[in-house]
Amino acid sequence: MSDTSRIPLSVEFFPPKTPEGVAKLRAVRQQLYALKPEFCSVTFGAGGSTQEGTFNAVSEILAEGVSAASHFSCIGATRDTVRAQLATLKAMGVKRLVALRGDLPSGYGAGGEFHYASELVAFIRAETGDDFFIEVAAYPEIHPQARSPEADLQAFAAKVKAGANSSITQYFYNPDAYFRFVDDVAAMGLNVPVVPGIMPITSSTQLMRFSDASGAEIPRWIRLRLQSFGDDTASIKAFGLDVVTSLCEQLRAGGAPSLHFYTMNQSVATIALCERLGLVA
Ligand code: FAD
Repeated sequence: MSDTSRIPLSVEFFPPKTPEGVAKLRAVRQQLYALKPEFCSVTFGAGGSTQEGTFNAVSEILAEGVSAASHFSCIGATRDTVRAQLATLKAMGVKRLVALRGDLPSGYGAGGEFHYASELVAFIRAETGDDFFIEVAAYPEIHPQARSPEADLQAFAAKVKAGANSSITQYFYNPDAYFRFVDDVAAMGLNVPVVPGIMPITSSTQLMRFSDASGAEIPRWIRLRLQSFGDDTASIKAFGLDVVTSLCEQLRAGGAPSLHFYTMNQSVATIALCERLGLVA
């Protein structure tokens, strides 16, 4: 068994849009609970577009006896709407938030009373004290809209200084970017865990699409190999499992505090990775 055996993990879901999706996610969760995640998080559509689905999924996870984190994005929101949503989350028994700016779909006017996630973190702390454990997003490969790498680090520092307890990264396949970011964070005197976000590789086209939008780099050697498999999904999955297992092993060996899996509401790839990593009891 590798030395990854005791690293904690968490898993992320998105709120399903259909009754079938809700039923499928229930089954997926039961499979993933075998991994004993520290918490399960549920994403939140910018502009509050998925609020009901997010809160419903979070409620179900809590009712299943598992710790749940609600993502919470502030773009387009007002102080009053955020205050009301925080009260709802508190009443539901939620103790952990992933506080984000979010991205408005094109066509939405900017509007809203929050510009950056740091303002949301400060607002949550001012309104609710220490009621919530607050996670924020981190970008080892630099957020696509950052003015500069240094400005992006300062933006991260602002979120921590506003009261964030921990952070989860955008996914990446280049561990050096992560280790450099962790060093930079420590050099700024910021004492927060930086948990790597792990995206299993199961489909070439889906990965390229997400990565274009999020600014996560697919290294050339990975991209070309994935393209060379064409429609051969078995080879894509086998290659993806090798690549991401090796990434997780390097992260663990380098001191990553935990692993956060972007499950895409699927259990197979995350479980296969955890089996390879010796994380399945
Ligand atoms: P911020 O930290 O506010 O940063 C956004 C940009 O503004 C960066 O370029 C930063 O450098 C810059 N910036 C920050 N402060 C300043 C300042 N004072 N002056 C100038 N520039 C500044 N999106 C969703 O819609 N829903 C989700 O549930 C969701 N979950 C996510 C979970 C994780 C772990 C991650 C990594 C991302 C998630 N996202 C989600 C995507 C996220 O909303 C986008 O990446 C968004 O573009 C930035 O959000 P942020 O919270 O990182 O923003």
